[in-house]
Amino acid sequence: MSVLSDYAKRTPGSKEHFARVGAMIPAGATRSLNSWPPYPVYLDRGAGGTVWDVDGNAYRDFLANYTALPLGYADPDVTAAIREQLPHGTSHSFSRALEAELAELVVARVPSLERVRFTGSGTEAVMFALRLARAHTGRPLVAKAEGGYHGTTDDVMISVRPPADLAGDVRSPASVPEMRGIPASRTRETLVVPFNDVAASQEILRAHADRLAALVLEPVLGVGGMIPATAEYLTAMRATCDELGILLVFDEVITLRLAYGGAQQAYGVTPDLTTMGKIIGGGLPIGAYGGRADIMGLLEPRGGTDVYDSRSGGPALYQGGTFTGNALSLAAGIVTLGKLDAATIDALNRTGDLLRRELTGVFAAAAVDAVVTGVGSLFNIHVGPRRVEVFRDVRAVDAARQHAFFLGLLNHGVIVAPRGMGCVTTCTTGDDVAAFTAAVRLTLHDITE
Ligand code: PLP
Repeated sequence: MSVLSDYAKRTPGSKEHFARVGAMIPAGATRSLNSWPPYPVYLDRGAGGTVWDVDGNAYRDFLANYTALPLGYADPDVTAAIREQLPHGTSHSFSRALEAELAELVVARVPSLERVRFTGSGTEAVMFALRLARAHTGRPLVAKAEGGYHGTTDDVMISVRPPADLAGDVRSPASVPEMRGIPASRTRETLVVPFNDVAASQEILRAHADRLAALVLEPVLGVGGMIPATAEYLTAMRATCDELGILLVFDEVITLRLAYGGAQQAYGVTPDLTTMGKIIGGGLPIGAYGGRADIMGLLEPRGGTDVYDSRSGGPALYQGGTFTGNALSLAAGIVTLGKLDAATIDALNRTGDLLRRELTGVFAAAAVDAVVTGVGSLFNIHVGPRRVEVFRDVRAVDAARQHAFFLGLLNHGVIVAPRGMGCVTTCTTGDDVAAFTAAVRLTLHDITE
């Protein structure tokens, strides 16, 4: 197949590296999603919208570390802010005053945030937000949407991409562990609702209301295929959670980039808690969660790990981590959010609209079954289906063709995620959009010849 032989010709250095590290690092890459057959491309460096691999091939990067780099690689202002911090130490035993600056920025932007805490990653933000929800409500269960991705803890590694034979009825999806090693007991603590189906989701929430602490939702299913929630769905979930005393958590780790105040501002729906990550760290590790002051107040006890909470008489709720609130992530995040003003975000979203339109046109002109989903600066190319409107439509993806498409795009110098997900950044130009569509045309030729 020409795609594979072209790939092999272009990437001998990556092949050699894979052969060397594969025995030592399982899958040959620590981020195992980034390991794919026949072997992954290993990167050397990035600048602006471009990355170079170890063989010296340049790629227009439309993934930008899975949407975490809205300003592209090595933005000069972000780099300068990191440099400024370096001589003062990279992480410290106590909080730096710097953390208040980033806190002020996110609280000022995101409507639901009255108070906020930082974490080391988006995964941790979700983990702590769900623990807080359980502590606040005294209830043991949480609910998430089928197809929803919220990081890698046992709570939420449930029914992200459930196989058709295990996924259960479309209106009452099963809780399917996403990977081995998740105990069945944990799986039973996470209920799964069908994204964008108001009546069926309400039925599930009502049936378990007295044991349900939180419903966590992405306003746009990200890893699940870049499928936006309907405004009706989010509004209905807000009302139902209010009615049942369930906390509504929006996971805005990806969607914060869609509007100045995140997707919650664009939809006009205010959750009780919000989780964040990626863009608020400007390319360095970070996460954050925040929301209603009364709920966040549970994190108030001071005095170390062995204090008891005077309100409950039980153990206190605390949260931290060795690298939480480290100086470099804070500094990079402050500059990045500062540069992402409303006009810049609008421009990003317009570039994204243009890209999705152009890509859709290429597939239509080539008469290839494929759908480009997404909203604003986010997209996902699905090769195989004729429509992707609800999460289960993603099953129609032709896995072999999607993979060939991904490798073919790499051959033509364009990076998206293996599953077709991507984004634009402030570095994405009209030329980049044209080069992407040209690469898609060439790739479709390669994989259909
Ligand atoms: N939540 C969502 C919606 C995400 O997309 C991600 C990561 O892609 C996470 C949580 C986890 O964030 P992190 O990878 O920083 O742990």
